[in-house]
Amino acid sequence: MAGLRYQIDGFIPEDPNGVLVPSLGIKLPQTVVNHLPTLRDELRAIKSFTRKINEGYANEEATVRFTYHICKHDEANPQPCVEQEI
Ligand SMILES: [Zn+2]
Repeated sequence: MAGLRYQIDGFIPEDPNGVLVPSLGIKLPQTVVNHLPTLRDELRAIKSFTRKINEGYANEEATVRFTYHICKHDEANPQPCVEQEI
């Protein structure tokens, strides 16, 4: 069955001069911070329409999974990335 599939991957580096986002624990540019609530709401709305591809079969795909994570594995003192469901 044909369908619309989203695969989004992006990395926004922490900005030492940016705004601290308490829920993320990092500083991001104010322009980015301004978009986050709307982005979250829109992604949640789209997610509500998603279905698993081949649900129940061996080749089932995780197509109802929308996540972001705070990336710290590349730091001088590497820490595990913290993944969060949207
Ligand atoms: Zn990471």
